[in-house]
Amino acid sequence: DVLVVGSANADLVVGVERRPAAGETVLGSDLVVHPGGKGANQSVAAARLGARTALLARVGDDTHGRLLLDSQRRSGVDTTGVLVGGAPTGVALITVDPSGDNSIVVSPGANGRLTPQDVRAARGLLHGSRVVSAQLEIPLESVVEVVRNLPDGTRFVLNPSPPRPLPAELLAACDPLVVNEHEARVIVGGELDDSPEEWAAALLALGPRSVVVTLGAQGALVATGDGTVRIPSVRVAAVDTTGAGDAFTAALAWRLGAGASLADAAAYAVRVGAAAVTRVGAQESYPTEEELASLAGS
Ligand code: ADP
Repeated sequence: DVLVVGSANADLVVGVERRPAAGETVLGSDLVVHPGGKGANQSVAAARLGARTALLARVGDDTHGRLLLDSQRRSGVDTTGVLVGGAPTGVALITVDPSGDNSIVVSPGANGRLTPQDVRAARGLLHGSRVVSAQLEIPLESVVEVVRNLPDGTRFVLNPSPPRPLPAELLAACDPLVVNEHEARVIVGGELDDSPEEWAAALLALGPRSVVVTLGAQGALVATGDGTVRIPSVRVAAVDTTGAGDAFTAALAWRLGAGASLADAAAYAVRVGAAAVTRVGAQESYPTEEELASLAGS
């Protein structure tokens, strides 16, 4: 029911006493490798919640690619759309210092080779989906190709991350466009005041059918031509917010594909996002349906 089109990365994490300056070498902790990338995170999040989910992505023919395929399959994601080869698997090289500040270098690798032609070749997956969810860690022209090949009646959800100005054709297909504050500011491209209602109005003026703004511990806001509604958050002890936005968007997309209203889907997604921040990591932190049901405050 849910097709995620997007990135798959291996996150390579090393703890350091302090991050190295130019020309300097520092010693770090043992390497930890996590499956990540916004696309791979979203498909795992949806599948763990019980959605029938497929991923259209590209990984390298290497150890990291196999790690990503494994984590998708273990979560129950259909990986027939995961293409292999053409470049090394995308990686994020992450150093974290004791205060939790990190420095990150991303090598997109195979993600950058997911072409419009690959998207056209996956039309079968597109036609089998009620909702398609995409982000921007793959070439923009490939995301545009997704909306050009979207079957009638299939809903399109976009989290424009990393953010950049978007073509009108892509914006017009978004229902909704899902952004956090930073993404909202980049996409609107001008000065914004401090009111999320104003950001949503400025985004709606760019042409998407609907907008969802995520507000961290404040929950979210949904906006359509009929007005805006605040969705309060669930109060939790936040441990690690990594990947919370991906879990939120995946949950939202799934509920929308199942026919929920935008406000109801966002209320569900806020609970999933809250559950994801109560545990360390991205994919490792995503709740199953049962775990979500036992979340305090829900
Ligand atoms: P991003 O990770 O993309 O910056 P947000 O920080 O807005 O996105 O988080 C996405 C969603 O995760 C929020 O809408 C909310 O549902 C949930 N969330 C994030 N941080 C918290 C928190 N501290 N407490 C409860 N929910 C949170």
